[in-house]
Amino acid sequence: MPPSKTEPVLIIGAGVFGLSTAHKLATSGYTDITVLEKDDRIPSRFSGGYDLNKIIRSEYIDPFYTQHALNAIRQWQTNPLYQPYFRQVGFLNVVTGEANEVVRNALAKYNKSVAENPAFDGYLVPCPDADHIRRVAPQFTGALPGWKGYLNGLAGYAQSSNAMGACFKACEQLGVKFKLGADGDVAELLYQPGTKVCVGARTKSGAVYKASRTIIAAGGFVANVLPSIAEQVTAICWGVSHIQLTPEESEQMRGMPVTTVRDIGFFFEPDPATHKVKICYMGGGYTHTAQNNGKSIPYNSLAESAYIPAEDVKQTRRMLRMAVPHIAERPLIDTHLCWVADTDNSDYIIDFVPESDSSLVVLSGDSGHGFKMMPIFGDFVQDLLDANTQKLARWRWREVKRDAAGTGKQISWRASAIVDLDSTPRAKL
Ligand SMILES: Cc1cc2nc3c(=O)[nH]c(=O)nc-3n(C[C@H](O)[C@H](O)[C@H](O)COP(=O)(O)OP(=O)(O)OC[C@H]3O[C@@H](n4cnc5c(N)ncnc54)[C@H](O)[C@@H]3O)c2cc1C
Repeated sequence: MPPSKTEPVLIIGAGVFGLSTAHKLATSGYTDITVLEKDDRIPSRFSGGYDLNKIIRSEYIDPFYTQHALNAIRQWQTNPLYQPYFRQVGFLNVVTGEANEVVRNALAKYNKSVAENPAFDGYLVPCPDADHIRRVAPQFTGALPGWKGYLNGLAGYAQSSNAMGACFKACEQLGVKFKLGADGDVAELLYQPGTKVCVGARTKSGAVYKASRTIIAAGGFVANVLPSIAEQVTAICWGVSHIQLTPEESEQMRGMPVTTVRDIGFFFEPDPATHKVKICYMGGGYTHTAQNNGKSIPYNSLAESAYIPAEDVKQTRRMLRMAVPHIAERPLIDTHLCWVADTDNSDYIIDFVPESDSSLVVLSGDSGHGFKMMPIFGDFVQDLLDANTQKLARWRWREVKRDAAGTGKQISWRASAIVDLDSTPRAKL
């Protein structure tokens, strides 16, 4: 039987997955939705989506995600809620001359995946050397040593915090209730005595929210709310930094494609409002292993996440020197760690928690590629609720034991190992 749309629904986390789900359920007639969020504002500064921008691309080695990403891009192009935040500047996917074989192979697979898909006909520009890259990215003034790859014009980026803010406002207009700060920071789930049937949650302020359906969308923090998921999800982060340009400098770089240098990182055209260039060193990602239980969870406070490792600075400058040397030595500002919930094979987890009698849903395992799906992610959740089961095996809750080598074993794009933050020096900026 389909779920009753008047049942109280509780969503824990107003990040990308939580907001998208709230919006979808509210537009499809659910009348009693409450969203709990630990930050005292939305867009939440704890969200992995809290950023100037995120890449919106559909390159996936796995055609399953390519198709979903294409569907999402159509929404970014046309849905009035999201369209104002989308910039279709293209996605330049390249390697440097120093890239190792794993990275070069990954690029070749991405290239093949789009070249063989008719959806990209007319959008792809091969870039076999630096001269070809300069034709599609004339903003680059550097030598681009050994750079090669391709441009995909059916891609770009979204102003992610702004898009989340717009979705939040739309949810409020649809009658979704939001509880923020201590009143929204979930301390524990509540269960029917002696069972795993969830009846709601208690927040740090002591407030109790009862619901017949509780949906956890807590990003990298998920294991704090649902410890049993830690066997299949690890909180990992990457460092994000910015360079402040003048309005004139910003204008000179306008229209630059989002550039992913697969063996180093990625950077964006300057933000039109703030004139900041956002940069991210990709590496393998970092964990923060809690002393008490050996699980990786994000730092609890924003202040603790407000830095990047020294390696990130080194690699960021290395990448910029090759492409835009005139800004490569500028101060790196607004540095922070950005957290996600990572699974061994990068598949999402969108499922009922076992033995919860469909009372508890978890939306997790974004694995660093969830933002682009924001316009359609709520559809995935509605499908789950309507079917009362996860029909797609790949998105099911899984009883996986992590291998001794740690995470990332099955990920073909990951060029380097995941590093614990405690074992790597911090940047002194
Ligand atoms: C550096 C970096 C770059 C990325 N780039 C891209 C990209 O280019 N393209 C792309 O598609 N994706 C990208 N992502 C991934 C994207 O940001 C995530 O996939 C997305 O944010 C996942 O959404 P989520 O809702 O699961 O988690 P989040 O967006 O992190 O939201 C989780 C929310 O839960 C709240 N919360 C946590 N615990 C509690 C609690 N106890 N009580 C109440 N609320 C709680 C948090 O405050 C937060 O608001 C990137 C991520 C990082 C870190």
